[in-house]
Amino acid sequence: MTSRTDRALGAVLGSAAGDALGAAYEFKPAVLPPTPIEWKAGGPWERGEWTDDTAMAIPLLDELAAGGDLRTDAALGRVVTRWLGWAHGAKDVGIQTRKVFGALERQLGRLAGLDAADDPGHVARLCRAAAAQVHDVTGRSGGNGSLMRTGPVALGYLGDRDAVAAAARAQSDLTHHDADAGDACVLWSLAIAHAVDTGEIDLVGQLGALPEARAEVWRERIAEAEGLQPHEIKNNGWVVAALQAAWSAIHHGDSLVDVLERAVRAGDDTDTVAAIAGSLAGAKYGASALPRVWVDELHGWPRERATDLETKVLLVGRRVSDL
Ligand SMILES: [Mg+2]
Repeated sequence: MTSRTDRALGAVLGSAAGDALGAAYEFKPAVLPPTPIEWKAGGPWERGEWTDDTAMAIPLLDELAAGGDLRTDAALGRVVTRWLGWAHGAKDVGIQTRKVFGALERQLGRLAGLDAADDPGHVARLCRAAAAQVHDVTGRSGGNGSLMRTGPVALGYLGDRDAVAAAARAQSDLTHHDADAGDACVLWSLAIAHAVDTGEIDLVGQLGALPEARAEVWRERIAEAEGLQPHEIKNNGWVVAALQAAWSAIHHGDSLVDVLERAVRAGDDTDTVAAIAGSLAGAKYGASALPRVWVDELHGWPRERATDLETKVLLVGRRVSDL
């Protein structure tokens, strides 16, 4: 039996565990049964080490734990400043996010005399403008990089659907100008809030938060995903395919570990699909559904472990709700 607190912890730890489980399989072909999915090191990643997905979620979680409101540019600007610090030493930064940060830093460099970092609201506005610029130049900005980090957002606004939706889209818009990315974050965050509150997963039930025409598009995408296995959904670096692959894993899975393994089997952007799946599945099954050894070995930027994430989630709970 899961408690509301266990499920809130699950939204963050489930995502981090999926991230670390998938890290060793990133950019590789699909892995189908009966080949087991192993908790192991791979590429630049140690066993149990989370990647950019969790690293970018942590400043969002920290901001909520400190009492910040992700619907404000001041809070978002503080998050962006921490992302920039992380990105300089990071082992991996997503292509689209790297482009946005590059454009932002050129802009901040021009403003160095004004010390833009003293005005976090201005940093947030510049970051959104850089995201729009990348969208205009490349013609696309629908990467999965804002959905992968959205796991903690709902925890700051449990019981307030409008606030969950607004905060989810606001954090997405910082780096991902494409409406699909914002829509995906809104749907997923509302589903996480619902799962923490009820122990049930209901993604279709969140479609009412989108404009009617967008809701219909997403209704079809969700239905399509339910008819496919994660590895049958191609191009999962795209936010729509990443959500579909994660949803397929959840729809077909029957435990948190099963969901995460199904997500990793998708191949390609395995850690991100599993991080996305883990945030919602973790909010249903709870952190207690994770193997103890995974939780014990989880670690990553900024030199933190699962216990640090747990402390922050509980702090958010104390600040904003009755977890
Ligand atoms: Mg990653």
